[in-house]
Amino acid sequence: MLRLLFWIALIAAAVWFWRKFKRSTSATTPPPEQSAAPMVRCAHCGVHLPRDRALSLEQQWYCSQPHLEQGPRPS
Ligand SMILES: [Zn+2]
Repeated sequence: MLRLLFWIALIAAAVWFWRKFKRSTSATTPPPEQSAAPMVRCAHCGVHLPRDRALSLEQQWYCSQPHLEQGPRPS
């Protein structure tokens, strides 16, 4: 009987440790970092895109090289 209680306690402790370990690992893993790149607007077509993917010319942003070459479109 004492041996049975010992095993129950051991299993309970193992489950407790496993849960604690699992929770701590999931808590320490950082959430998927959303790249909070500032959005800019293409001066030609008006599409919004991340600034690190945009092309800049004369303080204007463009979504692609053709739009950069065509320049800003007067709306
Ligand atoms: Zn564009």
